[in-house]
Amino acid sequence: MNVVIYARYSSHNQNEQSIEGQLEYCRKYAKDHNYNIIHEYIDRATTGTNDNRPQFLQMIEDSNKKTFEGILVYQLDRFARNRYDSAIYKKKLSKNGVRVFSSRENISDDASGVLMESVLEGMAEYFSVELGQKIKRGMKINAENCYYNGGSVPLGLKLIEVDSNFTDVNGKIVKKKKFAIDEETVHIVKEIFDMYAKGKRVADIINYLNDKGIKTGLGKEFNKNSLRKMLLNKKYVGIYNYKEMEIKDGIPRIIDDETFNKVQDMMKKNKKAPARARAKTEYLLTTKLFCGHCKEMMTGHSGTSKTGKLHTYYKCNNSRIGFCDKKPIQKDYIEDLVVEQARNLLTDDNINKIAETVVKLAKENMDSGELKRLNRKLKELEKQKNNLFNSLKMCDIDTVKTSIFEEIQKIEVELTNIKNEIAIEESQSIKLTVPQVRFFLTQMRKGNIDDIKYRRLLINTLVYKVYLYDDSITIIFNTQNKTYEKKIPRVSDIESSLMGTSAPPISN
Ligand SMILES: [Zn+2]
Repeated sequence: MNVVIYARYSSHNQNEQSIEGQLEYCRKYAKDHNYNIIHEYIDRATTGTNDNRPQFLQMIEDSNKKTFEGILVYQLDRFARNRYDSAIYKKKLSKNGVRVFSSRENISDDASGVLMESVLEGMAEYFSVELGQKIKRGMKINAENCYYNGGSVPLGLKLIEVDSNFTDVNGKIVKKKKFAIDEETVHIVKEIFDMYAKGKRVADIINYLNDKGIKTGLGKEFNKNSLRKMLLNKKYVGIYNYKEMEIKDGIPRIIDDETFNKVQDMMKKNKKAPARARAKTEYLLTTKLFCGHCKEMMTGHSGTSKTGKLHTYYKCNNSRIGFCDKKPIQKDYIEDLVVEQARNLLTDDNINKIAETVVKLAKENMDSGELKRLNRKLKELEKQKNNLFNSLKMCDIDTVKTSIFEEIQKIEVELTNIKNEIAIEESQSIKLTVPQVRFFLTQMRKGNIDDIKYRRLLINTLVYKVYLYDDSITIIFNTQNKTYEKKIPRVSDIESSLMGTSAPPISN
């Protein structure tokens, strides 16, 4: 599995583990679990007030490329500043199949906190709770004006800054941008459309481009997919698109309609039946399932038997390298069992208890988190500003006056920054009520047990850890002190029927 490491150091807290220390823990964890580190993202807070995390936001953005499946952090509090933050970003990441791991078992991370975060995450996912409404509205207005709204910039186009600001999806205040022709690469786009329209073979076009060292808009070598995507891109005929919205002449045009339409027709004709893509199996218990023998994580694998049947199962990481004798367990069997028990947990009585706990915790969290620190800082700065004004009034030496005035201006800038941060923090928090959470959990009880989205929701929201023994299973739920234990007598039969017929080769 490919992972990235995220390390953060803020100077607010003197007792923090250093960046190097954090990295060391994470690297060791990766090595022990056989994870492949492909990148390290590091944020060092430069001042006491500014909590910007450029590398963190970059990492969230990079998760769109789907080159890694996990983020390793030293402790979960490195990942996010508070639980709201965490829920919002984890939701984004889970869409890209990325999970967050902590390299140190976080003892202070009590079960009730985990429950609150997972319920928030679940509510965000299931009901598409509008997290950061202001930001979404901003993006719609952007689109109506044909401003750039994120995403990759196609070859032949570039971005130019427009003199106006907006808040992007990550809550960052950035300059607005518009698409413009990139004079350096525009001829390549024309050449590519021409070549295809004249009937040149796709493989030849790709070779031609790669031989010349021409890269896609994402800076990668061309392949069939990227070429196809490029030839389909309506931006080249000047159409701006965002979600379902399309605006003609919203972007400077590169390709004329005649060539573009010809290419579209040819592509339709040349389109062969797509090779049957094997659906990517999602292992819902990843990071939650542990081996009862050695307490190591069990991870998902698949293999094809001689008859061509696909087998999917979880296997103890230690047993893969010969250090544990725990046998693998069939994926569907164990997932069905856990999903069913998670659903059984949702009795009326439990739903009430969970809703009350979550709302209480959410309130406490709101009062004690980042917002409190920012408001304190705001007050402090305002006091300083007032003091300086008073000194200014009493002062009659011009040079001193000037320096006091300069000091005030500096504080003004800091005040603006803090106010922005507070606005962002507030827009990202959701105000929860008990009936809302109760409604969510009641809905959750009614879902379709065969629907993968629903199964994922149940497991992510309610299940903390699962320990699997040879003849029994222990499920620890996110709710306080709720565990479930069960003997599973038939498990060995399943194993032997799975492993006996033909040892499936591990493809993963
Ligand atoms: Zn084991």
